[in-house]
Amino acid sequence: MSDQEIQKQVRVATSLSRALEIIGESWTMLILKEGFNGTRQFGEFQKNLNIPKQTLAERLTYLCENELLYKRPISAKKTSLQYAMTAKALDLYNVMYSVWLWHEAHRARIDVLPFDLIHTSCGKVLGATFRCRHCQQPATPDSVTFEPSDPPQEAHESRLKRRKGAAVTAGKSSSDKGAIAASLVGDAPSNEILFHLLRQPLNLQNLSLQTGLNANVLRERIERLEALDLIDSTQVGRRIEYAAKERANGFFPLLISLAEWGDRWCNHANPPPEMRLHSCQELLNANYFCDHCDGRIEPRNIRVQPRSASICQA
Ligand SMILES: [Zn+2]
Ligand SMILES: [Zn+2]
Repeated sequence: MSDQEIQKQVRVATSLSRALEIIGESWTMLILKEGFNGTRQFGEFQKNLNIPKQTLAERLTYLCENELLYKRPISAKKTSLQYAMTAKALDLYNVMYSVWLWHEAHRARIDVLPFDLIHTSCGKVLGATFRCRHCQQPATPDSVTFEPSDPPQEAHESRLKRRKGAAVTAGKSSSDKGAIAASLVGDAPSNEILFHLLRQPLNLQNLSLQTGLNANVLRERIERLEALDLIDSTQVGRRIEYAAKERANGFFPLLISLAEWGDRWCNHANPPPEMRLHSCQELLNANYFCDHCDGRIEPRNIRVQPRSASICQA
């Protein structure tokens, strides 16, 4: 790819950046994961996530301010409050399914999401493929292209920029490979790097140009993504080029879903900053479809079920 082409693509991924302003913070996604798993009370969040009280209080407040959670009384008779999920948070379901599916495909010693998702339409444990709704073909990094929308929009970068140097708290505390997907989602720079590398191999300079991340942050995250076995590097001429490994492909639906969520909820009625096109030349409108019965996967036909002990030990 020429430098000119690279320039043209710079910062195309603005939808993702915008969603990550809200979601891409250490702990945020882990808290939401708990929410999807039915956790509602402060003490439960704290116990399940092993998170400092002060941090948890801050994150819950932040999620309430951003209308992902809201407080309501536990019951008609009790005045103490619990944290319930808003429609905006529940709309992240594709993101959560992809996190769950990734962990199912790469089951590790620690069971990060110790429950099963059941597709009630067919009664099977969820197995699903992210597919274009126009042509039914899988939506993969190879089959999706990105075009800046007309008129182009400026990326909302200020808050994200501020966070880019932030420590990877959640990621580091869950360094066990079992926690990969859940912890990575909570780290904006890692997501952006992975997103670009899923589309094409890039050297450090072009990666910096596309993500707007400085070299130090880039090197730190690249090291981490390599340690997690999600990317690798090859020498091309005098430069080192980084590429996503096949194992990382499961993150593509997650990143696309995040970007679409950003378009729906954080766009102030403007057109999306970028158009995502499938190889059938239609605007990408992808969804998970069941591998067993072909039905579309939606919250109303998914049931969360505690995992049986025998499966847990497998
Ligand atoms: Zn298509
Ligand atoms: Zn099914």
